[in-house]
Amino acid sequence: MLITDAALVDGRVRDVRVEGERISAVERGLTPDSDERVIPADGRLLFPGAIDVHVHFREPGFPHKETWETGSRSAAAGGVTTVVDQPNTDPATTTGAGFDAKATLAEASLVDYGINGGVTPDWEPDVLFDRPIFALGEVFLADSTGEMGIDAELFAEAVDRARDAGATVTVHAENADLFDEAAIESLEDDSDADSPPSSPTGRSAPADAWSAYRTAEAEIDAIERAVAVANDADAPVHVAHTSTPEGVDAAVDAGATCEVTPHHLFLSREDLPRLGTFGRMNPPLRSEDRRAALFERVADGTVDVIATDHAPHTVEEKEQPLLEAPSGVPGVETMLPLLLETVRQGRLEPERVRDLVAATPAKLFDLPQKGKVEPGRDADLVLVDPDRPRETQAGGLHSKAGWTPFEGLWGVFPELTMVRGTVVYTRDPETGAETFGPAVGENVRPEE
Ligand SMILES: [Zn+2]
Repeated sequence: MLITDAALVDGRVRDVRVEGERISAVERGLTPDSDERVIPADGRLLFPGAIDVHVHFREPGFPHKETWETGSRSAAAGGVTTVVDQPNTDPATTTGAGFDAKATLAEASLVDYGINGGVTPDWEPDVLFDRPIFALGEVFLADSTGEMGIDAELFAEAVDRARDAGATVTVHAENADLFDEAAIESLEDDSDADSPPSSPTGRSAPADAWSAYRTAEAEIDAIERAVAVANDADAPVHVAHTSTPEGVDAAVDAGATCEVTPHHLFLSREDLPRLGTFGRMNPPLRSEDRRAALFERVADGTVDVIATDHAPHTVEEKEQPLLEAPSGVPGVETMLPLLLETVRQGRLEPERVRDLVAATPAKLFDLPQKGKVEPGRDADLVLVDPDRPRETQAGGLHSKAGWTPFEGLWGVFPELTMVRGTVVYTRDPETGAETFGPAVGENVRPEE
């Protein structure tokens, strides 16, 4: 296959040859062989497939929210060619049986995938580390919250085991002791009232009650504690979905790496009157000042990675009152389009976006075959017209969730996505007609 006249992130225009699963040449003036398929890029942008190191594809256990097929279609249509799935499925990926159940279902994936092993009091570390797990995560240092939270002692044990196995620990850092219970107490008092909810957030809930409850201080404190434990053990730690600039600084200053989600980058507490319970996630949306400071740290290179925490729930589930609505928003399909729109607006450099969603995750998680458009690497490629954005609309997305918190925001969406040389998604920009390719996704894991 030959992709002609493709613009690369550094502005060079090159022909890109794909042989089998790999890129074999990135040069000028390549001529097609007689039997070679030619894809004319005509100066459009050829971007490396994005690597989303934080998704919840919900199988096994919750196929009404998402399946490996629908989640990976959503990824492919958003230019994500590798995902890393988190362990809070049913069964959880904390035992050999849990891993095996997920590994079988993941064979339905159109994109490559890693499977994280989880840590709970009944986890099976010996068995898990015998399996091809990607990393440990997201390990929830939060004492006991019913969300796979673990205490400091078990966290320290997990860090030791991961270090010995050469694995990274990805941590969800929120200290429940520092949550502001007063922010939601009045909602609990109201739960028996028989009047119907007057707003999506429930009767008397201020729109941003969840943000007031799960405080910034709870995140910052937990990051400091988690990174200190990892540093004591001389183990690599990666802080998931860092929602505050102070949290980013705490992680980076202590030598850890961190990720930021698109929702913490593009949404704030000011969006909650519109989003209602659809804007409930953990950690929650922060103030507009914190959001802007987070964007600065993304633009200047302080933040290592953008990952989505794609956590789909149905509309019916999210329409419940605030305390019953589950936490989480979908995002795997909109991450790259929203970031490429900021490039179009001149707010981020294209190379920076390449690093945030492809090159740096490939480097941090030892995937040397991925992350850049270079000879010898996997042909994980995304073709986009950088000057042709369209409005994000839930009806045009492919997650089972059926809604998006980014409704109405502009994005630069892919026209073609390829996973190791196989075209898994196309969209005709004139007609909007789409095609999906076969389930070629394979389990990938950090190189030893
Ligand atoms: Zn998550």
